[in-house]
Amino acid sequence: MKNSLLNLIFPPVCVHCGRRILKQDDYLCPECLENIEYFQPPISKVDGISYDYLISIAKYEDVLVSLIHNLKFYNLSSLGEFIAQLMYEQVKKIKLVLDVNLVVAVPLHSVRKRERGYNQAAIIAKKFASLLNCEFRDDIIERVSNRPSQATLERDKRAKNISQAFKLKKNIDLKHKSVILLDDVFTTGSTVEECCKELRKSEPKRIIVLTMGKA
Ligand SMILES: [Zn+2]
Repeated sequence: MKNSLLNLIFPPVCVHCGRRILKQDDYLCPECLENIEYFQPPISKVDGISYDYLISIAKYEDVLVSLIHNLKFYNLSSLGEFIAQLMYEQVKKIKLVLDVNLVVAVPLHSVRKRERGYNQAAIIAKKFASLLNCEFRDDIIERVSNRPSQATLERDKRAKNISQAFKLKKNIDLKHKSVILLDDVFTTGSTVEECCKELRKSEPKRIIVLTMGKA
């Protein structure tokens, strides 16, 4: 009743093109949903860096930019869950993913988290872990320095800005565990690289970086 009244006053629209949609929880019209460019296959083995595999779901452009933008700037946890569902659909048959024991999100510094009120990567990660039926934790790594937002820096300054920004909390034991580190978008990779360096200290069996978008 409350929802149908709300729909009458604020008709649900597609977050990308603005066209009317049936339910707000759909977020995208069928056409925009269709236009997401998924990577096939999404998984690739990586060498010489602190994680073992990179899974990026789709090209970070058009529809996906609108989804992530809306997630970042409005507190829409149901949109985060919608994105987690899209990700899950693309990876649910990958054995390495099914073997995962733990999902963690790239942390937001506590100051920025206070300003914004939530960590968008954690919203996605929590839902993703529940779909995968495995553990989600947000108390394993913390962001120790609150430097300028990555987005405001030029590319070559980003890597420097992020180094030593994360710290593994004490008494974390990831031995024999296969871990997913989740972030919304993969850009230069320096953020996840620094996070994974810390995760490695606890000697997990495998680290998979998982992002919804990749430029
Ligand atoms: Zn649309």
